[in-house]
Amino acid sequence: MLALSGKKVTVVGMGLSGVAAATLLHERGALVSLTDDKPAEELVESLKALEGVDATHRFGGIDGGLLLESDLIVISPGVPSDLQPLERARSAGIEIVSEVELAYWFCESPIIAITGTNGKTTTTMLTHHIAAWAGLDAGLGGNVEIPFAKVVRRGPFDVMILEVSSFQLENIRDFKPLVGVLLNLSPDHLDRYRRMEDYVAAKLDLFRNQSAGDFAVINQDDEAVTRIAARMHSTPLTFSARSEVRQGAFLRGTKLVSRFEDNETELMDVSAIPLFGRHNVENVLAAIAATLPLRLNDDCYKRAVTSFPGVEHRLEKVRESNGVLFVNDSKATNIGALEKALESFSRPIILIAGGRGKKSSYRVLRALVKEKLKAMIVIGEDAPLLEEALGDVVPTHRADTLPEAVASAAALAQPGDCVLLAPACASYDMFDNYKHRGRVFKEAVASL
Ligand code: ADP
Repeated sequence: MLALSGKKVTVVGMGLSGVAAATLLHERGALVSLTDDKPAEELVESLKALEGVDATHRFGGIDGGLLLESDLIVISPGVPSDLQPLERARSAGIEIVSEVELAYWFCESPIIAITGTNGKTTTTMLTHHIAAWAGLDAGLGGNVEIPFAKVVRRGPFDVMILEVSSFQLENIRDFKPLVGVLLNLSPDHLDRYRRMEDYVAAKLDLFRNQSAGDFAVINQDDEAVTRIAARMHSTPLTFSARSEVRQGAFLRGTKLVSRFEDNETELMDVSAIPLFGRHNVENVLAAIAATLPLRLNDDCYKRAVTSFPGVEHRLEKVRESNGVLFVNDSKATNIGALEKALESFSRPIILIAGGRGKKSSYRVLRALVKEKLKAMIVIGEDAPLLEEALGDVVPTHRADTLPEAVASAAALAQPGDCVLLAPACASYDMFDNYKHRGRVFKEAVASL
């Protein structure tokens, strides 16, 4: 579908991805329209970014008529693909693809695409860091707030490293990465997906077009992942922090080992990883396994991993004062991520949690909370639910605001403790997004 010249293409959703898609389409000669349910006043940034792109705009509602006149519809990851006007266009036989699919049509670089419930951004950034240390010209984009449709215009690259969310995998057609990575699967976004199986199916789409010459990097320690691995057609490269793998990367004692095409190499000691937590060992192993098909020099791995700065708002060390460690894990927006955060520390933890929940029960956390927590401060919409599920296993206090929670936590903390923000919830009830929440936390810690 490269012949877009003169075709009428409508982009639905005018966020970063929509703007990037429209720009790419315009450059390729398509007759571009854009529609969004937000009114123009809320799209000022997008409109500014679209200067120079000749396009028809329809705001304040998705324009069904415009969709029906299109040769092709491109939807942004934020837009649910079962919206009424989209369903109607689909029934009328109009092709609907995601922004990732559109960008793929113009991508001439081999792709490493990374998905999973948690750890995508960390693993994507690390994979990119490894490729860069190996001297490759590596593109970076996707769900890391750099739309694929934007990066692809700067290519081709030696390799394109892409983070893909399950939403971005909806409505792909030909998209086929050389290496697809599935980090883990735990219930998340069940607010958007009706059933866990639908969520799993969306993730599995990453591997749908692959064949034996391509690679699937899968987590051998995650049962939900290994269960669906049999449905993939590509060559498996596994990773494990618990046992050896046939091809891929694993932990043997304290050593990270790679195995690929009969070569086994001890790459580094686990102590070389500068990030908190066992799950980050998994992320490092995944990044190593993902780059094995690129046949990089073995030396680059240790150099890249030791120099990796981590990613803001993911188990980020904020400050250690009077023996109390303050950690910002604002990106822990689901229960799986909170579990990993709690498992990352041997110090007593004072946890700040709560926000807009994802409708899973917090009771699964009872044993871990009992073992790891000294106290819990709850905030936001889910404060009562957290209190109800866990209040009898750990002293629990409520706070109205995050700075108030930080002050309470600091008052309870003694030298040797860790004050951890890991909400297990989305932030939208109190903040613009998780970054805003993380910044407020860091400011509150700084002003203690
Ligand atoms: P994503 O992009 O998938 O949201 P991030 O790298 O941004 O992943 O991390 C999101 C949250 O998940 C953070 O709280 C982080 O500490 C936690 N996390 C990171 N890697 C993993 C992993 N492999 N398994 C479980 N949780 C993880």
